[in-house]
Amino acid sequence: MEQYGLDLLEPCEPTEICEVETFEASCGRGLRTLKQILPGEVVLADKPVLPPCADADEFAAAASSLWTELTPEEQMRLMALRWRSNSAPPAQAGPGLVVPATGRLRGIASFNGMAVVKLVMKPSALKTLEAQPCNGVAVYLNGSMLNHSCFPTVNRLPFSSCLVVRASRDLFLGEELVCAYTEVRAPFYIRQAELESTWAFRCCCWRCLLEERVWAAAPEADRVARSAWRRFERRRKDGTCSEEELRELVNSTADSTKTALAEFLVAIQDRTDLLPAEVLQERGFQRYQAACQCTAADVRALDLTGNTPTHKSTDDLLAFYRLLLASFWAAPAFELAFGLQESQRYEEAHQLWLAVRNVTAELLPFSPSHTAAATEASLSAMAAESVAWEEHVQESVRICCGTYGSGAWLRLAAGRLEHLASPTRMGLDGAYGARLEACLEPRDDMQKLAELFRSSIGGMRCKLRTAHPGWDCTTVHM
Ligand SMILES: [Zn+2]
Repeated sequence: MEQYGLDLLEPCEPTEICEVETFEASCGRGLRTLKQILPGEVVLADKPVLPPCADADEFAAAASSLWTELTPEEQMRLMALRWRSNSAPPAQAGPGLVVPATGRLRGIASFNGMAVVKLVMKPSALKTLEAQPCNGVAVYLNGSMLNHSCFPTVNRLPFSSCLVVRASRDLFLGEELVCAYTEVRAPFYIRQAELESTWAFRCCCWRCLLEERVWAAAPEADRVARSAWRRFERRRKDGTCSEEELRELVNSTADSTKTALAEFLVAIQDRTDLLPAEVLQERGFQRYQAACQCTAADVRALDLTGNTPTHKSTDDLLAFYRLLLASFWAAPAFELAFGLQESQRYEEAHQLWLAVRNVTAELLPFSPSHTAAATEASLSAMAAESVAWEEHVQESVRICCGTYGSGAWLRLAAGRLEHLASPTRMGLDGAYGARLEACLEPRDDMQKLAELFRSSIGGMRCKLRTAHPGWDCTTVHM
């Protein structure tokens, strides 16, 4: 039983956890840790102040009618939340207030409400937790203090009974918790426009500042990458994309990113002041600092899928390249990898999934997208009968556990396993099941897995799955 995992999808009474305190951050109030936290650890489990509502109007009506049932502290903290774009810092309020104006309550819900997550099954049997306003909107008093960064340090899952915030990275005592308000696997100018239109602020996190300077060093690569992104956005809207075009987008964004990185490294040799102090001082950036000593030739020698470490500086450079790939390359690569997987080209899919997993691990470790990439990498390894498939399964269980809690891998991956299985490709005999069972131990529920395998192996043998007729990329999975 994992109290802060997928069990929260069912009605339950979670216990609160609060390893954080509010403080005055540079961009208004924020949350920081009260102790050192490891990746995957729950740092905050926060109940909503009211049950989730359909929208901000309903929240305002519910808060007005239930106002006297809130504790004085809840009233005070609710009133201290931001409620319009120019309301910062919010007025300090005392307890026992009269019922606040509807407009203010509506504003509080609009600015601080989080769409609740539900388990969604895609046509490809991929299960993910998706947050959509139609699931209901909840206001969490502690969780509302989380600030945004395009390089998040925590992953938040707003369940209807509880907001669960887990560390994505090592957090030291007193470190600020920052999460992503918007999709951060997009170029900086897209992220900034999105944040400006939805949240009325312009992001100036260190990743945005860094990325802006990297691409400014290579205007031609920047132009090519932006044009590729526009085409990708169009295809996402249409919901269709040919394999050829998607492959072209993936290759072209990887090349442009490599060129931008190489030219940036040349530029920074001449102009050591290229990066502002705000970037240099950030703990998140320090991982990439050594990479700034590398040369353009080092960049050209990088192999995206290659995992063979050469020397330390190249490892750092590969990490930096992966961070930059998260902006233009990751989203189309995710689509291409899914397409390859669906058309049962498992070896090719596996190589691409590994690259996607590593890029996602750089930007969003222990997040739903990291879990999806790692799980797909493990499933393609199994389907391709790769010798190392058990290692990939173990890695995906580890990541899934740090994202959703223990026991989640089975619930999320089992459907995909069955969907991808074909009697010829995945030799689903007892020995296969036993190997999988063994590699999940001890994190997952052995008994449950054994039962699943016994029933699904029997079921799958009866199903003669036909291979996908040609390329089918009509579903956008992101
Ligand atoms: Zn940013």
